[in-house]
Amino acid sequence: MTPPTTLPVTCVEVVEARRITPRTARITFEAEALADSVGTAPDQQLKLCFPRPGQAVPELPAPAEDPMSWYRAYLAIPEPRRPLMRSFTLRHRRPGTRLIEVDFVLHEGAGPASAWALRAAPGQRLGMVGPSALYAPPVPFAAAAAAADWVLLAGDESALPAIATLVGALPREARALAFVEVADVRERQPLDGPPGLTVRWLHRDGAPEGVALTAALTAAELPPGRPYAWLAGEAGAVRALRRHLVTERGVAKEAVEFSGYWRHRLTQDDAPTAEDLADARELQERAAGRS
Ligand SMILES: Cc1cc2nc3c(=O)[nH]c(=O)nc-3n(C[C@H](O)[C@H](O)[C@H](O)COP(=O)(O)OP(=O)(O)OC[C@H]3O[C@@H](n4cnc5c(N)ncnc54)[C@H](O)[C@@H]3O)c2cc1C
Repeated sequence: MTPPTTLPVTCVEVVEARRITPRTARITFEAEALADSVGTAPDQQLKLCFPRPGQAVPELPAPAEDPMSWYRAYLAIPEPRRPLMRSFTLRHRRPGTRLIEVDFVLHEGAGPASAWALRAAPGQRLGMVGPSALYAPPVPFAAAAAAADWVLLAGDESALPAIATLVGALPREARALAFVEVADVRERQPLDGPPGLTVRWLHRDGAPEGVALTAALTAAELPPGRPYAWLAGEAGAVRALRRHLVTERGVAKEAVEFSGYWRHRLTQDDAPTAEDLADARELQERAAGRS
């Protein structure tokens, strides 16, 4: 597949902000421009650009011919004015409109994205980079799931928007097991999937993030056969789960898709750790092996 060469960048305006759980804000945005193909595949990532204090709207570079030129122009904006960029998942697109929904976890560290979502109100504007095939999973989920005997999904509430779109994309005959860690029982959300989907909700109830998820998955009796695994959430927990699946359960490395969505005590602006770099290298090597 030829990689896409353009990166869509547009403005989005809040049309509705509501709480779907005590700690999840669902924000409906109207995009200035949105390709028809957007919202047709699960697990679509996008980046949102937040204004700096004192700005009503973020300062965005003009659209560029290619993604690297755009990113260079972004970095050339002096830091006090450069928008803060954070990654999110397209939870839903309302068909036939330019309306999209994004679910924000209102987490305790309260970074700029979470703080913004806490107070979001109609009329506020953000920048949006993507959704783009550049951020799409290397192997389409449906193809990876179809090649396996069953599907394993695991993550915390930051991964719940993606998990919701993934279980919604499973074929009717699929067998899937989802482990989802949330703060407490009030954070559960309805998940629409095929009859063969089992969801195990894990409540932190005050324990640190990742502990309940890792404990439940490592102790679980998993179905027989070859799984395709999709893991996302706090980076340390994702790493521990991946290691467990590969070294203790004998799951093939290539059958485990993984992504550290956030890091304890670090923001998305902080430099990658040695472990982050090792993960990125492995993903690059895997992508090179596929091409
Ligand atoms: C591909 C991808 C898709 C994602 N999709 C979503 C999504 O749909 N919805 C969503 O809410 N998040 C999603 N995330 C995670 C989100 O990008 C991060 O949580 C991000 O750090 C939030 O930015 P912030 O400005 O609120 O916090 P930051 O400024 O990045 O961090 C501030 C502090 O908050 C802590 N922190 C950050 N996130 C969390 C969290 N979830 N729980 C507890 N503490 C946290 C950090 O450790 C840090 O101490 C996604 C991430 C990726 C990579």
